[in-house]
Amino acid sequence: TRNNFTFIQHDVTRELPLLGRVDYIFHLASPASVVDYQKYPEETALVNSQGTQMLLKYAKTYSAQFLFASTSEIYGDPLEHPQKETYWGNVNPNGVRACYDESKRFGEMMTMQYVRTHDLDARIIRIFNTYGPRMRKTDGRVVSNFINQALEERPLTIYGDGKQTRSFCYVSDLVDGIMKAMFSLKTKGEVFNLGNPEEYQVIELAKKIKTMTQSQSSIVFNDLPKDDPTRRQPN
Ligand code: UDP
Repeated sequence: TRNNFTFIQHDVTRELPLLGRVDYIFHLASPASVVDYQKYPEETALVNSQGTQMLLKYAKTYSAQFLFASTSEIYGDPLEHPQKETYWGNVNPNGVRACYDESKRFGEMMTMQYVRTHDLDARIIRIFNTYGPRMRKTDGRVVSNFINQALEERPLTIYGDGKQTRSFCYVSDLVDGIMKAMFSLKTKGEVFNLGNPEEYQVIELAKKIKTMTQSQSSIVFNDLPKDDPTRRQPN
């Protein structure tokens, strides 16, 4: 505890400690990097399903406002482009990414169910690719990988042919969006895509980072991971 701030380390799939008062719950407790959730697939599936239900129950106890951090991954390999909030997605239900995609979809369902059944003041955000300061160096995501590789003059590892696209949001913009989704009026029961609509091919990103860091690194092409979405852009 420091400056009115108390940090409690707790597994949200287990019964939560009772507190005097809870006003707002931001549920962001899940690995989000492909590398991380592949390492902990069952834990990832449970924190987004069982963990979400546990926190919704908790929010109901305190009549707290609730925000569930979902993901652009719930669109799978999208057939609609750019992705609107009303799109249902194209997801492999039992593939290697399903521990993440399907548990986030379950979490969305349960969040909306609590709005309908229990009149809970809850909303869903779908976070698209995000980058910025204090990202872990070994996060495994494309932006941090390329920057580290470029700075260390190692080859930039493109997965597949690099023609797949992503749209990258700066972290402080994402945080603004998260705050607005929670604290604006009439957000109860709403779903928000949060991301930057400018779309880049992965190979364009590699070249841009090479130029910006003035790196002599080469670019190598590795195998594309399974079920890697070909396009992603929030509407
Ligand atoms: N990627 C890549 N090289 C890397 C890391 C990722 O080419 O070193 C690709 C990855 O295959 C995907 C895109 O970059 O098409 C974004 O991957 P990331 O893991 O950053 O986020 P995702 O959108 O897959 O959650």
